[in-house]
Amino acid sequence: MAQPSAVLGTYRRSELAFERGEGCWLHATNGQRYLDCAAGIAVNALGHCHPHMVEAIVKQAQKLWHVSNVFQIPEQELLAQRLVDLTFADKAFFTNSGAEAMEAAIKMARRYFWSLGQAEKFRIITIEGAFHGRTLATIAAGGQEKYLEGFGPKVDGFDSVPYGDHAALTAAITPATAAILVEPIQGEGGIRTIPPQCLKGLRQMCDERGLLLIFDEVQCGMGRTGKLFAHEWAGVTPDILAAAKGIGGGFPLGACLAIERVAACMTPGTHGTTYGGNPLAMAVGNSVLDVIEQPVFLENIIAKGHEFRHGLQQLCQKFPHLFLEVRGQGLMLGLKLSVEPSEMVAQLRKHNLLSVAGGDHTMRLLPPLIISSDEIAFALDALAQAATHFPEKAAS
Ligand code: PLP
Repeated sequence: MAQPSAVLGTYRRSELAFERGEGCWLHATNGQRYLDCAAGIAVNALGHCHPHMVEAIVKQAQKLWHVSNVFQIPEQELLAQRLVDLTFADKAFFTNSGAEAMEAAIKMARRYFWSLGQAEKFRIITIEGAFHGRTLATIAAGGQEKYLEGFGPKVDGFDSVPYGDHAALTAAITPATAAILVEPIQGEGGIRTIPPQCLKGLRQMCDERGLLLIFDEVQCGMGRTGKLFAHEWAGVTPDILAAAKGIGGGFPLGACLAIERVAACMTPGTHGTTYGGNPLAMAVGNSVLDVIEQPVFLENIIAKGHEFRHGLQQLCQKFPHLFLEVRGQGLMLGLKLSVEPSEMVAQLRKHNLLSVAGGDHTMRLLPPLIISSDEIAFALDALAQAATHFPEKAAS
């Protein structure tokens, strides 16, 4: 009998284990190779072992790994300046994960109003189905019962409204409201996009009511939709933004970006992290950005996104009982299914394709942003083969 795992049982793990990654492919210990359209859940933006990232991390590892944030870190200054130059933001704070980037965003929103003498304004309106991380504050922000259960009392200060319900959102604003927090495209929630006109409406509402607008682009940012950040498609900017996942391409890295007026409240001693923004992480972050910031790289994501989406739409026509709808933008794609997403994800593994289950009966396809046309064709073929395992009568 296999020995029980010494690892805390918080994950429902598949049997697969991998020994090597190369581009969009993962080589498993079972001798098979898999096309990785999970990418560590939108993390491996440049695929596995991208030569530019490998070179950057090796070079940095031979020089200096870590120093405390009480010292100057030139690599951190560089990445912050580059992100500021490329975005709405004036300041960047580096973290090790998405949840920590969100935690920084939440703390900043509260402290901003505190610094204005309005400490009573601390509540944040969020959207049902959202996912912002697994810390106590971010499970409260996400508002999903399955993640909150047993971890009470729930952190106060979050008011969740249904997705797409403008009236509920307006009604939720009170004198205690500090901010509205949204994922421009919900990832875990099932690749649900907030339409550009709604993002514009949120911006206008925040301006009129004196609220902060926070975007969680941990999953949809860093080139995934074909713009550096997904909100750029709507032509609006937030006051605070959380990024992670693709920003480190596989190295644990996140960032909280903010405009000067808001960031100014975060004075020395108000927030911190031991590892966030250390030289090793920054060397990797800079190397990822070297590639993603190139206009041709972003244009290619849009082109490949169209190609993949077109193929998925054809599958919807071919298997209408199973594939109900294509969602998303660029290479953040979702397929709404008539069966449990986890069943489809498991079936696809048998056809050497890795994907991710999501909420709202949706499976996610989040390939490395370097995916080729041939690899897209492989994924579509695997989906078509997997579909034959779900005959019409079995799907409802
Ligand atoms: N926000 C969003 C939109 C996410 O998708 C995730 C993770 O999936 C997080 C926050 C939390 O990031 P992390 O798991 O790195 O803490």
